[in-house]
Amino acid sequence: MFILSSPSGTGKTTIARRILTEDGEIRLSVSYTTRPQRPGEVEGRDYYFVEPREFNRKVEAGEFLEWAEVFGHLYGTPKAEIKAGLKSGQDYLFDIDWQGTQQLYQRMEVDVVRVFLLPPSIDELERRLSSRGTDSADVVAARMSRARSEISHWDGYDYVVVNDDIDACFAKVTGILHSERMRRARQTGLVDFVRELMR
Ligand code: 5GP
Repeated sequence: MFILSSPSGTGKTTIARRILTEDGEIRLSVSYTTRPQRPGEVEGRDYYFVEPREFNRKVEAGEFLEWAEVFGHLYGTPKAEIKAGLKSGQDYLFDIDWQGTQQLYQRMEVDVVRVFLLPPSIDELERRLSSRGTDSADVVAARMSRARSEISHWDGYDYVVVNDDIDACFAKVTGILHSERMRRARQTGLVDFVRELMR
């Protein structure tokens, strides 16, 4: 379970998409959300878009591995699908916030790797958050204040990567992914392999 979190405007979506395209062994954990679908987003690829009532039914039925309210909307990771995938050896990339990260870590600590991305500076973050469109100063200020509160959770992660260059950041994040896969405890079949070597 490879978790990527960051304040928005840090390039997380770009990094996540690139990992998913270039690494054939990891799949995105597709969350449920009550937030409205944005142009370009595809149902079932980016999110499963549901009404709050359906989301709450799923909460009551225990169908989420974790869920949280993020900036006024509900987001949750489906339990059955991810657990079945993990059991069959599938790696998953999670694009979730610090609250979800905490919950997954509490539940499945040994299977979790937590990576937090940071912007190179607050000025650069402001530039990225205001160059997204024709947003008013108020909207940008609100995004900056959210970003600051998200940044404050940086210490709940195993790795912190500053994204000052997208290629370098991608290389660092995939380096973490590859190293974490090589951990002895994560290499299935190793015991039999070594026994065979020693015979
Ligand atoms: P957005 O609405 O921009 O796609 O996502 C807003 C925030 O919600 C991002 O920080 C994203 O990582 C987080 N998020 C997306 N899906 C989930 C989820 O299933 N659980 C949690 N806890 N956060 C999520």
